[in-house]
Amino acid sequence: KLSQRLAAVAQMVPKGARVADIGSDHAYLPVNLLLNNKIDFAVAGEVAVGPMKNAASEVNKQGFQDKIIVRLADGLAAIEPSDAIDTVVIAGMGGILISKILDAGPRFETLILQPNTDEATVREWLENHDYQIVAEDIIAEDNHTYELIKAVPGAMNLSAHEKQFGPYLSTEQSAVWRAKWEHELSRKEKVLGFLQAATPVHEDRIAETKAEIATIQEVLK
Ligand code: SAM
Repeated sequence: KLSQRLAAVAQMVPKGARVADIGSDHAYLPVNLLLNNKIDFAVAGEVAVGPMKNAASEVNKQGFQDKIIVRLADGLAAIEPSDAIDTVVIAGMGGILISKILDAGPRFETLILQPNTDEATVREWLENHDYQIVAEDIIAEDNHTYELIKAVPGAMNLSAHEKQFGPYLSTEQSAVWRAKWEHELSRKEKVLGFLQAATPVHEDRIAETKAEIATIQEVLK
């Protein structure tokens, strides 16, 4: 059974897609998609030997060796033209690493990204590379909040606000999303308290933190 986070990623995969799961670790995602007959071909890419072996043993256990190709490779180098991949999933990594991995590659019909951090960097990368966000999701699990972003080729013009808070997430304002930003707000308020009590006084950092607090308060209104 998948974690809630990976189940939400799986939900975003189009039926019949040819999927490359980059940084697949145990290959739980492609194996689950195959078991549910949602797809019938995937590449599981891994840059590290240990996780690549985990992926291979999971794939063998299910007898999916012909349908899930496990490759040891850095990022999108796991994909070969003959795979005819249309959907790339990159989940469970930092947003900066995700953006770097995408930098090296060609265009795909669908990107499904789940950055653990730096979501704004990922949204900015998508905008700068002519992708358009078509769906977002947010999941709370094990004391973490995970954002998911699905994108397809197309133009978009995000405000700074939309990059930070998510164009769909900030419109939908789910309970999980609100809780994330309420938590972030109280964290920043604590930081502000420390800054104001500290000597010497860092006027610029105080002003910066106040501005960040105001931005979050505005979006939570
Ligand atoms: N995608 C799975 C998930 O979401 O549960 C596994 C996430 S795991 C935390 C991140 C995996 O990405 C690790 O197994 C790591 O080896 C792999 N990874 C990191 N950088 C990579 C790269 N440049 N190319 C391929 N895999 C990478």
